[in-house]
Amino acid sequence: MSVMTPPGIKTPGNYIEDVMTTVKAKNPAEPEFHQAVQEVFDSLRLVLQKHPEYRSSKILERITEPERVIMFRVPWFDDRGEIQVNRGFRIEMNSAIGPYKGGLRFHPSVNLGILKFLAFEQVFKNSLTTLPMGGGKGGSDFDPKGKSDNEVMRFCQSFMTELQRHIGPDTDVPAGDIGVGGREIGFLFGQYKRLRNEFTGVLTGKGLNWGGSLIRPEATGYGCVYFAAEMLKSKKDSLEGKLCLVSGSGNVSQYTVEKLLDLGAKPLTFSDSDGVVYDPDGIDREKLAWVMELKNVHRGRIREYGEKFKKAIFMPTDIKLEHSPLWNIKADCAFPSATQNEIKAKDAANLIKNGCKLVAEGANMPSTLEATKMFLEAGILYGPAKAANAGGVATSGLEMAQNSQRLSWTREEVDDKLHKIMIAIHKNCFETAEKYGTPGNLVNGANIGGFLKVANAMLDQGLV
Ligand code: NDP
Repeated sequence: MSVMTPPGIKTPGNYIEDVMTTVKAKNPAEPEFHQAVQEVFDSLRLVLQKHPEYRSSKILERITEPERVIMFRVPWFDDRGEIQVNRGFRIEMNSAIGPYKGGLRFHPSVNLGILKFLAFEQVFKNSLTTLPMGGGKGGSDFDPKGKSDNEVMRFCQSFMTELQRHIGPDTDVPAGDIGVGGREIGFLFGQYKRLRNEFTGVLTGKGLNWGGSLIRPEATGYGCVYFAAEMLKSKKDSLEGKLCLVSGSGNVSQYTVEKLLDLGAKPLTFSDSDGVVYDPDGIDREKLAWVMELKNVHRGRIREYGEKFKKAIFMPTDIKLEHSPLWNIKADCAFPSATQNEIKAKDAANLIKNGCKLVAEGANMPSTLEATKMFLEAGILYGPAKAANAGGVATSGLEMAQNSQRLSWTREEVDDKLHKIMIAIHKNCFETAEKYGTPGNLVNGANIGGFLKVANAMLDQGLV
């Protein structure tokens, strides 16, 4: 039931600016959170004109305030017997349409603002998946790089000793993200089970023998490529023969490259925080298998690709610089799959100048606001993260469904459901963009499509 609107004094634009000013004042020194909120608010101008009830019910003020923020000490012993102390977080952002759901990130750059931006994005992304999941995100400033398996296990056990009080299969269901893969989910699940004496679907991304879903590891990358294929289809085009740039070399990047190969495209690059490898011959299945072994088993660096495959070129980089050589390589499509703000204005200019036709975001918020604006103005196909990378959390939703039924679906069943979900997300974004007068603008489509379902559920549930 919606609340009646009193006669409006402010325009939607004024209202948005006022709320944005308050968000910045209440959340100082959190630029990534401000950026994520600003991007959504820019799209919502179109909605607020048609729906004054969101304003009178203060939905924007409420949706930008996490339902709960948990911050805690994580003490652990390193291999030398020395005490280390990290900081743990869980942001429970919004549970209007389901239990909190979203990954855990272990990376030295993690702080409250970064996790708030990720949790905020997650709310809209989860809404787009068509599955009943609220939004959350968590993690720690712990850096798994260079740590032994035992150190990672002791850290995960200490982290879960506190986190277990706040999560549960019907409350909050974390998953992986940067620095949290199968190994970490295993250690976290083991400690949860030990402390709670419960074998439940409290985490997703679990091992196949103990409640995991087939296709979950592949889902974000595969889903992003399925989404890109839909974008191209809307222009009667396909991925066949397309030259593709992929950044990162972790989970999302690896399975993006795999699905690109399945669909006949030619991936050219990988990267990590040390640099970029460009392989003019293309990354084939054999080279991809080598990268998977390098990254997932030996936990090595991508520069080793340049030593192993002689025609490949390694270019050192630094994320703090104003541009990356990766986005200045001539190609048809770009799949940023490493981290936030990795495509800056100069990178966007380089991509457009070199004739790039499509950007599909595997990483969360990989393009700055300036870069996003440039893609939209250039009229290229631009698939924003909250739509393009929603396949990961969607398949986590499928893992939850299997856990609840105590069943396991086949690889084909899960892949088929993932593919259909990505087609549905694209259709929703495409049609919503059109309905609100900005055809082809999938940023507006994703933000508005994701927002409406959550906002309406919040109205239905009263002032909570
Ligand atoms: P991984 O940890 O598996 O891989 C991350 C990759 O990105 C690594 O190559 C890493 O290099 C690079 N990277 C991370 N941080 C930085 C940085 N600050 N500067 C330069 N390179 C960096 O993570 P995922 O593949 O899981 O995640 C990648 C992105 O996809 C993230 O934005 C994540 O939020 C998003 N995402 C992931 C989902 C999932 O299911 N895993 C779901 C939806 C989105 P290095 O090893 O040097 O750090």
